[in-house]
Amino acid sequence: MRDTLQQFQKLATALLQDEATHPVADFIPADTLYDALDLSLQKEGISEEVFEEALQELVFKTPRTATSAFFNQLFGGRNEKAVLGELLAVLLNNSMYTYKAAGPQIGVEKVVLRKVCELLDWDAQSDGTLAPGGSMTNYMAMVMARDAVDSATPYQGIQKKMTVYTSSESHYSIPKNAAFSGIGRDQVRYVPTNDFGQMNADALAALVSEDIAKGFTPIMVNATAGTTVLGAFDAIPPLRAICDEHKMWLHVDGAYCGSVMFSDTYKHLIKGVSQVDSFSFNAHKMIGTPLSCSIIVVKDKKHLYNSFSNDASYLYQTDHDEFNLGKTSLQCGRRNDALKFWTLWKSVGTNGLQNIVDHQFYLADVAREYIRNNEDYTLYSYEESISICFNYKNIPARVLCTALYEQEALLVGYGSFRTEEFIRLVTINAQNEKEDILHFFQTLEQFVEQHQSLLAEPANS
Ligand SMILES: *Cc1c(COP(=O)(O)O)cnc(C)c1O
Repeated sequence: MRDTLQQFQKLATALLQDEATHPVADFIPADTLYDALDLSLQKEGISEEVFEEALQELVFKTPRTATSAFFNQLFGGRNEKAVLGELLAVLLNNSMYTYKAAGPQIGVEKVVLRKVCELLDWDAQSDGTLAPGGSMTNYMAMVMARDAVDSATPYQGIQKKMTVYTSSESHYSIPKNAAFSGIGRDQVRYVPTNDFGQMNADALAALVSEDIAKGFTPIMVNATAGTTVLGAFDAIPPLRAICDEHKMWLHVDGAYCGSVMFSDTYKHLIKGVSQVDSFSFNAHKMIGTPLSCSIIVVKDKKHLYNSFSNDASYLYQTDHDEFNLGKTSLQCGRRNDALKFWTLWKSVGTNGLQNIVDHQFYLADVAREYIRNNEDYTLYSYEESISICFNYKNIPARVLCTALYEQEALLVGYGSFRTEEFIRLVTINAQNEKEDILHFFQTLEQFVEQHQSLLAEPANS
């Protein structure tokens, strides 16, 4: 193992050095991938030397998500303390289903979950778990909502025609999960939003009433804390009122921006969250842990047991089961995703988590100010969002983003809201500084200057 660790150290050091001067990896068109890299597997093994070369080649050609040129998705950066926790989790290789197999690591996960619940002002009846990604924590919420409305469902299957409600700006995992859970994609109602991309509560109430009149059973509203494109926050209190009236489950999908809960400055964006039934967030997005670190908490833990324990009901749990986390998880064998969050949290404290979140909003302010002061840009987003949506010199966003990628200049994506398509810059990498954001714009402007002909071509098909 010692040699292997040295090999890792060597590879990692080489990568970090190269990243410093080449923040974007070489672009390999997908259709030439197997020519560009030898990824083949053979009957015979290879020498250590050839193996090491192949590994270095692969590592060097892989998209670089930790550099100051990566703004493509809702994650980025490389948080050292969290990386350390993740490396240790791999080395320890526990499975989180029982105390017997994971020992103190169970305590690590429980402490993280308890602290999250406390920050939401929830009592000892609350609990949570981790799942492989925000799509899956949303799935768990939908299953609990389904079973809460009819406790026979886990045994007999769905008997009622159920409906779920989410905004037109919400994540695509909602219809996917409706398909998984037997509710059905066709029973997802997309509630229109206001000009800021937030769910319109009056429209929600009308849709719910309509469905009840048609004989449906509305079971759940999914509110979004940080919509995928605009980074908008649905207002929670009006949705709570509608859910109370119709005995519906209220979930907050905070995969993107739910981590504002750690910031005294920005937690007002999820005001009312202490009144919801379940809340999920991805620490691998705003907090910057390695992928994946997705947490879901529920106000009443009986729902976790009712939907995910395949054994005795919650009442008959022994104390020991409190430490057998398999009783409340989606999976059987489960990797230790809590440790990387714990190592970070332990090291920087809750105040350190707040600083991470606040810094992202600061960087977003820097970006918006730059755009506002430069007439070649059009800004589409608004304050208190870390997604900055804009266009430059009326160049179609998808043409510019694709060219930036293929020419190895920047990785940034595009999105749309209503009729506008635009570039979406996300200031989610808290290791960036003001200069990095200004550098992003300089790079983009120089690129446009130097690639006029490329950008004049029609969007690549
Ligand atoms: C990213 C995201 C998800 C999905 O999370 P994964 O971890 O990628 O599965 C769900 N909802 C929202 C709002 C997101 O931004």
